[in-house]
Amino acid sequence: MRIVLASGNAGKVVELEQLLAGSGVQLVPQTTLGVSDADETGLTFVENALIKARHAARATGLPALADDSGICVDALDGAPGLYAARYAGTHGDSAANNAKLLRELDGVPTEKRTAYFIAVLVLLRHAEDPAPLIAEGRWHGRILEAPRGAGGFGYDPLFLPDGSDLGAAEIEPALKNRLSHRGQALDVLKARFAELA
Ligand code: IMP
Repeated sequence: MRIVLASGNAGKVVELEQLLAGSGVQLVPQTTLGVSDADETGLTFVENALIKARHAARATGLPALADDSGICVDALDGAPGLYAARYAGTHGDSAANNAKLLRELDGVPTEKRTAYFIAVLVLLRHAEDPAPLIAEGRWHGRILEAPRGAGGFGYDPLFLPDGSDLGAAEIEPALKNRLSHRGQALDVLKARFAELA
């Protein structure tokens, strides 16, 4: 099955392609089909995922998968949250976003640096699909005092998953995919999909 992926974020594209390898789903990033980014005007992850999936399905006529994700830091009342990609102002500037997060947490002790990644996945079978498949995953941990590792993307260099000595940018991609918010959400989505098939 050919599905358009409603994202141009290279990190997400790579992870979702790895996660769906061998499943029979051919994921086509919307950028390769000339689809522009949707305006993320929702106030929740699920609203933004629906907006992105509907935009891509409408533009291509294909079923669409969208991932809206972010990181919520307890000491910052959930920020960067929904605005993770544009926390420091420019969309997708991970270095600036990470620098801002470290500044905001300056002086906050280790035990108060708890946070979680969240991903909401939406699968629309067509643009007018009234019953989209929706799945959520959360990955808990804490924000490090300084970046560690060269893998992953986004806030990974600042995230230490619960129960791990290695940061999210230090672990193998396959392990990140098994543990992460995105991996968890995709497991749920696949199970829902299987129930319907
Ligand atoms: P959006 O879903 O396109 O609005 O952006 C999600 C943003 O959250 C990304 O640009 C990253 O900054 C952050 N993010 C989401 N998932 C991850 C992840 O797995 N690792 C690191 N950062 C992530």
